[in-house]
Parts: sequence; C-alpha cells; structure tokens
Amino acid sequence: MIIFKSNLLALLSHFASGSRKIEFMVLKIVKYGDPVLGLKAENVTRFDDELKKLIEDMFETMYAARGVGLAAPQVGVSKRLFVMDCSNNKEAPERFVFANPQIISVEGEQTGEEGCLSLPGFSGQVKRPAIVTISGQDQEGNQFTVTVKELAARCVLHEVDHLNGLLYIHYLSPLKRDIIKRKVKKQMREGRW
Ligand code: ZN
Repeated sequence: MIIFKSNLLALLSHFASGSRKIEFMVLKIVKYGDPVLGLKAENVTRFDDELKKLIEDMFETMYAARGVGLAAPQVGVSKRLFVMDCSNNKEAPERFVFANPQIISVEGEQTGEEGCLSLPGFSGQVKRPAIVTISGQDQEGNQFTVTVKELAARCVLHEVDHLNGLLYIHYLSPLKRDIIKRKVKKQMREGRW
C-alpha cells in the first residue's frame, strides 16, 4: 500500500549486523502492467540468507517509497512473501514479515482510501473486513498467527491479494477501474509510466 508520494532519497542504506556490514538496497518497484503482478506467487520454501536479504531490501524499498506494505511480486519476485509496517513511526517501527500467509478469519467491515506502490498517483475507496486473523512464517520460518485491525487489516488483505495476482482496483466499480486504466495507458503512451 502507498500512503504518500514516492520519495527515493535513500538509495542505499548501510546496516551493521554484528561485525558484518550488510548493504541493503532500494529495489525497483514494478508497476501495473507488468505480468508478474498478475501471477499467483509461489510458496517460500527456503528460509536462507538470500531470503533474509530480500526481506531487508523490501523493507528499505517500502520505507523509501513511504509505503506501509510491500509484496514480493512488487519487486519482481513471484514469492508468497510481504513486509508491513503500519506504525508510521521511525523511532518505534512495527516490522512484520509474512511468508506463506493464510487468512484464518475476517470480521466486520471498513471502507477507506487505498492506494498501491505499483499504481502510483492513484487511489480509490475500498471496502474490506475490519479485523483479520492471519497466520504465516517469519524470516526464520517460524509459524505465527496474529490478529490485526483497521489499517493493518486493510494492509494484510491488500498484500495477500498481491500474492494471488489481484490489485485493489479489482474492488472498484468498473467505471472507476476503467478511468484508472485509461490514465495509466495514457502515461504509458507518453513514456511516463
Ligand atoms: Zn499494492
């Protein structure tokens, strides 16, 4: 999900982990129109260093773009993985990693403005459940279950949709969806997408 306009000031970030210095990268976010966004992503099967690097890079990319969630297909990796931080607080981040997420149950209803880092410049009103219980695996492969509400509930549902090849515009009226698609096509023709 996107909240604000993208801000690519931080292209590289340096992070000290023990005695090793690891460099994390801001990855390119693929936009609507890229086939990877329409695929059903594959399960994560290996919880190795490569996955951990991808997860850290995804957090870097999400924070740089001022998003609150980012799914692996959005950086061109068709894996069932997403990261999330709905805290909007640099001092006290609430970082969540979900690999192979499963929605266990949903409750209630909320309607709110929703955007996507893969559809920059657009947003729409989307009705979603208000409370979501979701299970998944963390970066080590440990299974966990968590119940989230409000923005976090909206976010996990939005990101799980990405893993199934769905974008939030799927929930808009055909008219609103077509307006966005037309504007995207115009930007594509003008080489601005
Ligand atoms: Zn999105």
